[in-house]
Amino acid sequence: MEPHLNYPPDADLRKLLRFEPDSGAIWLGERRMVLLHTAALSALRRDLITSVGTEHTRRLLTRMGYASGAHDAGFARKTRGNRSLEEMFLVGPQLHMLEGAARVTPLHLKMDAATGLYEGEFRWDDSWEAHAHRLAYGVVDEPACWILLGYASGYTSAFMGKLILFKEIKCGACGDDHCHIVGKPIDEWPDGEAYRPYFEDDSLLHKLDVLSQQVEALKTTLEPATSGGMLIGASPAFQHAHDLMQRAARTQVTVLLTGETGVGKERFARALHEHSDRASGPFVAVNCAALPAELIEAELFGVEKGAYTGAHAARAGRFERAEGGTLFLDEVGDLPLAAQAKLLRVLQEGEIERLGAEATRKVNVRMVTATNVDLEAAVAQGRFRRDLLYRLNVYPICIPPLRERSADIEPLARHLLARFMALHNKRLSGLGDRALQALMRHDWPGNVRELENLVERGVILAAQGGTVELEHLFPNQPGARQEGVDPHGRLARVLPAGENELCERIVSSGLSLEQLESRVLALAVERSGGNLSGAARLLGLTRPQLAYRLKRQQIDEESS
Ligand SMILES: [Zn+2]
Repeated sequence: MEPHLNYPPDADLRKLLRFEPDSGAIWLGERRMVLLHTAALSALRRDLITSVGTEHTRRLLTRMGYASGAHDAGFARKTRGNRSLEEMFLVGPQLHMLEGAARVTPLHLKMDAATGLYEGEFRWDDSWEAHAHRLAYGVVDEPACWILLGYASGYTSAFMGKLILFKEIKCGACGDDHCHIVGKPIDEWPDGEAYRPYFEDDSLLHKLDVLSQQVEALKTTLEPATSGGMLIGASPAFQHAHDLMQRAARTQVTVLLTGETGVGKERFARALHEHSDRASGPFVAVNCAALPAELIEAELFGVEKGAYTGAHAARAGRFERAEGGTLFLDEVGDLPLAAQAKLLRVLQEGEIERLGAEATRKVNVRMVTATNVDLEAAVAQGRFRRDLLYRLNVYPICIPPLRERSADIEPLARHLLARFMALHNKRLSGLGDRALQALMRHDWPGNVRELENLVERGVILAAQGGTVELEHLFPNQPGARQEGVDPHGRLARVLPAGENELCERIVSSGLSLEQLESRVLALAVERSGGNLSGAARLLGLTRPQLAYRLKRQQIDEESS
């Protein structure tokens, strides 16, 4: 050990430490401290590693140690302002010992305040953090005294006025019998830059935010693959809407899509985007009704960092993410009035202003909006701005409900069937006749979306290799198996699911149709205790029809 590296007496530092149990405070000079259990800190370390991973934990703990060290650097000049630079500097290692981190032995120290030269080497025995890490994870490959090392870097950097990076070249956590640290200015380490992130305020929340934005963008990009090609329909009402869409696509006109819920307004908006010269740009969809009113402006227009509590980082809004492409605002009638005013300005000026921002940004976005409410009525009730309605309603396209385009139901259903068979890995021979009939007679309050749900359920419920039958489409309808879906009884004679099997058994049983009828009639009469009206109900016949058949059988038997 170099001779001048003996510690000066630490009585000056011990005097700084005061316990005030009556006031519930511990002081180090003017700074309040707490006594923590190393077991509790170890548990926190483990929890952090489990929840955010080793790298983030290392960064968080390094920064924690760094902050402690930087604060302690304030004591150096205060307590030893009249001593040599080295003795002043040794306040740090001595305080680190007093605070219970480890036993610190200086091995080498060379420093010059004027030139910023710094070389330091220390030995740590009994690092609490090395013990804690080894206890939790056994012997590891990488040094693990992150808080301690952060302290050394923080203290020295604050003392020297520039970033001094300490590294552990030996560590108790790696099986060495002590830890050994070396420090010098970060730019003198060949790999120093790789360590800089451990000291920086690069928040995990910001990373999560970036990731969630990427996921959102990916979802938006992926959706056409699953929902595309759904603009199917030859009915005149549908074709008219489709023509209007195609003509609008070639222009920059603001389009307002109207129609009942589930008619496929978002599909129209996507198709419009894909037919336009913006097709290579992003398509961003926002459902205004799905966002809480207090978040909607931040979502649409973006936020600057610190614009409100919880705005950890600046974030682009949907307008900016749709740059060069199309922004689809669904259920625009649900937009709060404040957001309506901002939206109007975007339409007028082509500029947006992030929440908390000083300046505006130009945006190049084509807007398509949709609503299933009557916006004129909303204007009359004061819930929607008339000037905004005029701006949005330049080119309205009304998409007809499914019940007004019944010719399109079958082709749509077959298209959906193929799509869901692929999605659910099912081989099916198609839709049963009664299933198709029921689809044609349904009145579709939920429109195409309802059809989609029904067909998907049918595909899931149908047996592999079979057909989608009525009861697969409408399984919860009371009495669906016998009476069909129509309250008017038009499907009254739907047979149970085992119909095919039953018929096959009959055919291979060798019974003639007449014999079959005779036995079925006899069984029904027997079951109803000889009551012909009851037997007729069992067979789905009227009493005279049953009487006629029974009589005919009698005649046949007599004549044979
Ligand atoms: Zn260590």
